[in-house]
Amino acid sequence: MFEAKGYQKVEFEQNPDIFIINTCSVTDNADKKCKKIVKEAKKISPNSYVTIIGCYAQLKPQEISEIEGVDAVLGAAEKFRLLELLDGFAKTQETKVLASEIQEANIFNNAFSIHDRTRTFLKVQDGCNYGCAFCTIPLARGKSRSDSIENILKSAREIAQTEVKEVVLTGVNIGDFGIREGKRQERFSDLVFALDEVEGIERFRISSIEPNLLTNEVIEFVSRSRRFVPHFHIPLQSGSNTILRAMGRRYLRELYEDRVDKIKTLMPHCCIGVDVIVGFPGETDELFLETYNFLNELDISYLHVFTYSERANTRAVEMDGIVPIKKRNERSKMLRILSEKKRRKFYEENLGKTFTVLFEEDVEDGKMHGFTENYIRVAAKYDPLLVNELKTVTLTSINEKGNVEVVEPELVYESHT
Ligand code: SF4
Repeated sequence: MFEAKGYQKVEFEQNPDIFIINTCSVTDNADKKCKKIVKEAKKISPNSYVTIIGCYAQLKPQEISEIEGVDAVLGAAEKFRLLELLDGFAKTQETKVLASEIQEANIFNNAFSIHDRTRTFLKVQDGCNYGCAFCTIPLARGKSRSDSIENILKSAREIAQTEVKEVVLTGVNIGDFGIREGKRQERFSDLVFALDEVEGIERFRISSIEPNLLTNEVIEFVSRSRRFVPHFHIPLQSGSNTILRAMGRRYLRELYEDRVDKIKTLMPHCCIGVDVIVGFPGETDELFLETYNFLNELDISYLHVFTYSERANTRAVEMDGIVPIKKRNERSKMLRILSEKKRRKFYEENLGKTFTVLFEEDVEDGKMHGFTENYIRVAAKYDPLLVNELKTVTLTSINEKGNVEVVEPELVYESHT
């Protein structure tokens, strides 16, 4: 939209006239990070117009407006009207604050990224109707709402006309796809079936999906699909049923185990990523060990570990059993080590097998990188002809650095975590 109006995208350091800073409320210290970036922006370009958008802007608009150098703050509903609301981006004495109540963020705004030749993130759903005790996302993003399958197919066909080979489906609670104007109109599985038919897109990847919403139907379909890749990212958050209940999650560990079994039975080579939170109130040493042992036994490929931190206006901040920060950090470290072990084991299990790598553009120390369909990251000697190409490779061995080497008829690659 900016480009259509004659604006040009430049790098942060290239003296921009306008900065649009997107903030996150999931990240720790969002306020400090925001202040730091505003300061850097003003140093680079003192007369620039600075706009703050994103979840933190919705949650704390007044607080952000007081940061020195901020010209405008736009909430969840307003950010999509950035160009029109900040017409001309003329500086005024007062900071503009345009953040209405979150209930007003009820329209779905479709979007997909366009500045990467290889991969596009296609938003299909926004908001969340769940109320996990630790989470501010429903307050920052509003109720669950989705695009229609018809519109998404239109976007997918548009993407298919470009060079992009992989589409990542994104949303806040993607498994809850299909609600429009407060009513369920479609299902996530129908979206998956429909997208699988779109010619010209080689790969679809499903981003994080709640375990209770990942149905057998979807798992079975992915196992047969040529386009949906064998990779799931499923938040667990805790392996202790006591903690899962306190968190207000909508499943118990038995259901999670069942999902992993189902996936691995149908697709033994499938990559499974897990989100887990350590240090939630009430997580005693014993309950943490329940999580650790559960994950240790489970056939998963890597973990994303989050250290619990208090967030205003959540139920969790009122709970007893606060875990000391030192303990939270120790637990986080234990799970990060476990994650590395899991990843290595996953690589080992896949040695000798043949996969397809989609090579990306970035060059790092003379090497290029790409992911296999089951999310193994491969590095190869830079070859411009391989950029944005799908190549068949065989994973051969793990080298002394813990990386996996792979071969393709004429080329030797190495893969690492
Ligand atoms: S399902 Fe996810 S987004 Fe929704 S409240 Fe729970 S953690 Fe937050």
